[in-house]
Amino acid sequence: MSSPIDHRQLADEMEIYFLNESVGAGLPNWLPHGVAIRDSLEAFVKDLEFKGGYQRVISPHLAKADLYQASGHLRAFKEDMYPPIQWPEDQSQYYLKPMNCPHHHMAFAALPRSYRDLPLRLAEYGQVYRFERSGSLKGLSRVRGLCQNDGHIYMPRSKSLDEVISVLELHERCYRALGLKGYRYRLSKHDPHQMQKFDGEVSLWQESEKILKEALDKLNLEYFEAEGEAAFYGPKIDVQMKMNSGIEESIASVQLDFNSGKKFNLQFINQDGKSEHPWIVHRAPLGSHERFVALLLEFYQGRLPGWLAPIQVHLIPVREEHIENARQLAQELRMQGVRAQVEMSQGSVSKKLLFSHRLRPFSYLVIGDKEIKEGVYNLQRSNMSELMGLQEMIFRLKELLKQP
Ligand SMILES: [Zn+2]
Repeated sequence: MSSPIDHRQLADEMEIYFLNESVGAGLPNWLPHGVAIRDSLEAFVKDLEFKGGYQRVISPHLAKADLYQASGHLRAFKEDMYPPIQWPEDQSQYYLKPMNCPHHHMAFAALPRSYRDLPLRLAEYGQVYRFERSGSLKGLSRVRGLCQNDGHIYMPRSKSLDEVISVLELHERCYRALGLKGYRYRLSKHDPHQMQKFDGEVSLWQESEKILKEALDKLNLEYFEAEGEAAFYGPKIDVQMKMNSGIEESIASVQLDFNSGKKFNLQFINQDGKSEHPWIVHRAPLGSHERFVALLLEFYQGRLPGWLAPIQVHLIPVREEHIENARQLAQELRMQGVRAQVEMSQGSVSKKLLFSHRLRPFSYLVIGDKEIKEGVYNLQRSNMSELMGLQEMIFRLKELLKQP
């Protein structure tokens, strides 16, 4: 068996993104094939989130120092943030957003909230910036600009278990639909011997950890426990997956945060007419586009499922005179929502097919005299080929490319 190909090589061959010194290290520039994957992932998860009762928000890419002072990022996370931008008029400082959480907390605080509005589920594909050291940058898996499948759920303490369960169900649905295997859950807890690293009372840590444990047990999910791996504001459930490198990494995490509601003085009016701080679930089932696309490329070795493939049908004209027909056919397929692309390189069919192989389309068609004259096409993918007329092929493709 040949050794697995690294996502950087796959992305290079498939024209997913590029890096450029003038743009800056660790700042990927997405090419059309990469954006096709991102857009498909977003459409898929936004649909699930919409059905799960999430509402979408959009926050700016930067904010004043005040916000990150309040969130504690400037205290605990400053090393990982870009240096500030000095505002010329009033000397105030702005920072590029390192995390979406404080922005979503502001969105919670923007309107009066009652227990009737909760759980409030806010979601955003939010761009964040982290000043990773030059030596640690790696393709799409370690970058300085990334777009997260972020979301926060604000709820009364009593609703925490239900919400954590539905968030874990959302994770499971995503990973099943994506065909991911070989991941496991880790319950990351506080360390009672190092309480200086963890905010809040021990009893709240114990209670919140019990809730996460109960959610995992109720769903019959296998997990292992790790002491001291919690976030400083609460325990979490990490999704751990072994990468091609053999190293196990966290691809997502569900955090139960009993601290930030109080810290940001977020309030809702409870059933007794009294003001109460919400508990918060932080979640990002598909992590960031950057790391998740890297993961999917390596997991599938570039041969993505049809609905995610950047090129769903690659049309290979036999000779120059077949290009126009191939273009027309590609346009008809696009009108049906199929990502069709004509191979424009010169040379023999076998040379074009070799080039097509690098791009890893979901399927391909060779277009020559016979196909144009008879209107019958040989739709080829992995080790299969099917002879069909145009309408039948469109019908078949729609079935093969359906979003799960
Ligand atoms: Zn968060």
